[in-house]
Amino acid sequence: MSEHSHGDANLTRNQALVLETLSAADGSLSAYTILDHLRDKGFRAPLQVYRALDRLVELGLVHRLETLNAFVVCRRSDCEGHGTVAFTICKKCDNVAELTGEEIAGTLNSVAVDVGFALEKSTVELRGICGACRAG
Ligand SMILES: [Zn+2]
Ligand SMILES: [Zn+2]
Repeated sequence: MSEHSHGDANLTRNQALVLETLSAADGSLSAYTILDHLRDKGFRAPLQVYRALDRLVELGLVHRLETLNAFVVCRRSDCEGHGTVAFTICKKCDNVAELTGEEIAGTLNSVAVDVGFALEKSTVELRGICGACRAG
């Protein structure tokens, strides 16, 4: 694991713009939505967005949500180190919330150890209905 802390990475202009766009968003964004936001900043091709996203994911500043094929900015400072991130994804309002991954990491790790698997990283996506939608 490389050492880094949120906010002090050396980002290129493109990476910083993509991160800014994701930070300003309420939930998750697809690469194409990000591209639409950044067209007037000189972005032309999806590849430019994907390249920036790859690096941001690598740095732990952004998470990729496989089931939505979308990206969300990391809002937890305690997220690094254990390689497991977890989200609740509301199917009604599309709200995406990042959970503390630590307990889940412990569980997944012991399951992996049982089958002799060396777990490096995992993304857990819980699909369902958020508290606000259930109350409403
Ligand atoms: Zn995170
Ligand atoms: Zn909801």
